[in-house]
Amino acid sequence: MLLKILTYPNDVLLEDAEPIKEITEEIKTLAKDMIETMHAANGVGLAAPQVGVSKQLIVVCPKDENGVGEESVYINPKILKRKGRVLGEEGCLSFPGVYGNVMRASGIIIKAMLLTGEEVTFEATDFEARVIQHEIDHLYGILFVTKVQPAEQIAFKQEMRQRELLVASRK
Ligand SMILES: [Zn+2]
Repeated sequence: MLLKILTYPNDVLLEDAEPIKEITEEIKTLAKDMIETMHAANGVGLAAPQVGVSKQLIVVCPKDENGVGEESVYINPKILKRKGRVLGEEGCLSFPGVYGNVMRASGIIIKAMLLTGEEVTFEATDFEARVIQHEIDHLYGILFVTKVQPAEQIAFKQEMRQRELLVASRK
């Protein structure tokens, strides 16, 4: 089932998400629906708060230059280690049409639970590492627009303010 993707401004996007204690049928359905929603929106990642569920679950599908990628679901993901720094362009399904350059670690070690309940620790690099870092930020209410390079900050603040005003004017 396709889920509605929340766009900025929305309070759920700014909250800390709750850790998941048990992998219920509801969680499995949420993960499946989030994968479907991510693909339908041509995204490479989606975090549960973006569909209005304040829980620590992300789905990612970092694609290579041929548009081929592998889907993964990570529950309660934690970054244990970061190495290197690299600047790269990002967008976000919660900020349609907005792109900016964000500095991220080029490699990370992540610990997460899979849908099977298995705990895994693995390394991600390059684009995959970027996507995972972006999605984990969503679990802590952190949006990429607040992490763009200083030179882009003013334009982004204006963009956010415009979106806030637009939503306020509809209330
Ligand atoms: Zn995002």
